[in-house]
Amino acid sequence: MWRGTGEIYESGFRKKQGLMVIKEYEINLDFARQMDAQDPLRDYRTKYHIPKQSNGEPFVYLCGNSLGLQPKATKQNVEQELLDWQNLGVEGHLHAKNPWLPYHEFLTEAMARVVGAKPAEIVVMNTLTVNLHLMMVSFYRPKGKRNKILIEADAFPSDRYAAQSQIRFHGLSPDACLIELKAQEGEVCLREEDILEAIDSQGDEIALILLGNTNYYTGQYFDMQKITSLGHAKGCMVGFDCAHGAGNLPLNLHDSGCDFAVWCNYKYLNAGPGGMGGAFIHERHLTNKELPRFEGWWGHNKKTRFQMRDDFDPIPTAEAWQLSNPPILAMVSVWSSLQLFDEVGMDKLREKAVSLTGYLEHLIKSLNNTGIRIITPSDPEKRGSQLSIQVKEADNTLFSKITEAGVMADWREPDVIRVAPVPMYNSYEDVFKFYSVLKKALQE
Ligand SMILES: *Cc1c(COP(=O)(O)O)cnc(C)c1O
Repeated sequence: MWRGTGEIYESGFRKKQGLMVIKEYEINLDFARQMDAQDPLRDYRTKYHIPKQSNGEPFVYLCGNSLGLQPKATKQNVEQELLDWQNLGVEGHLHAKNPWLPYHEFLTEAMARVVGAKPAEIVVMNTLTVNLHLMMVSFYRPKGKRNKILIEADAFPSDRYAAQSQIRFHGLSPDACLIELKAQEGEVCLREEDILEAIDSQGDEIALILLGNTNYYTGQYFDMQKITSLGHAKGCMVGFDCAHGAGNLPLNLHDSGCDFAVWCNYKYLNAGPGGMGGAFIHERHLTNKELPRFEGWWGHNKKTRFQMRDDFDPIPTAEAWQLSNPPILAMVSVWSSLQLFDEVGMDKLREKAVSLTGYLEHLIKSLNNTGIRIITPSDPEKRGSQLSIQVKEADNTLFSKITEAGVMADWREPDVIRVAPVPMYNSYEDVFKFYSVLKKALQE
């Protein structure tokens, strides 16, 4: 079993085995460098472009939860598609090095491994909010008194707007139909028992439970399987926004049993600004012809798609939700990133993440400073690679000082600095440098 903070844990997410203590963290640069030297993933850092400060030094980049860094291979891969377009024109659909017609299929298996799904259950398409709407068309079907959507009170604004507008789309009122889960007085994170209690007591009226599996603000991770089981027992549909989970934590979407999930690929998954999103639809829904769906030609049976027939014949996979032929130039970036994730695997990333985030937590706590506090759960199983640091008196001058000292983190109103040491390209040295900068800024 694990014993509180201050120690390094082996392999974070295997509940059965518990988290094994290996050795003590030390608060000095040599230790951080030693950890980097022993890190089996250390070379992956060199496969990404790290933004540089005006003095030529790389930033300590802790914003991978907001916009992941660019894999060095991306440019060359984009150029390949530009070249094929240049040389082949329309023939590129069939004869490009990576033919454009089936292009999205090249991503499917690697993406499925990242989110823990069967290949038939996932598709890379559109962007997150678009996918959320498409999923709600299929899975938010208010009927009689079962017409509500359960969300987090501090859900990401886009998710809230999507839910509210879907409710209005059905001629209902968000005031009456949106149930918001609030943290207890004086607390920031939701208690799991409160989520389960809300589902248990109001489940009969809930058509859709829509939660972030990892909260963007606090970094809190929710147990998808538990929430889904109870939701289903109450007759609700259950969907998750995995924007902050995909590429961060092993999600096991299939095993969680949830009905659908959506995510973006530009945060932990490094697919570039505005990069394409993903969607998961559990296999139990894939051949259900009764399910309402907004349809487009790319969701139609691949064999007869170009016969331009009248009737829509959905592909019996998540691809049925595709509308348009996909933007190849955007998809290249997703694929370039996925190839690295596939090489490393989520288990190894998670293992390093638990240790790296644990080190960051240990360093911040060692400051013993009452002007800041970490609001992210301290249990490694309830968080991924993000710590949210609340600054007392909602003062962002601390954040400005950190930025000036060469750290890229992010400030979230009203009073939180989010830092994400991501295992793919961040080092223990990065984490130690952030600690040194924070320490100095707090002393000034
Ligand atoms: C980042 C994020 C979004 C962004 O949505 P886009 O449609 O990709 O712009 C939505 N929801 C959550 C929870 C997010 O973290």
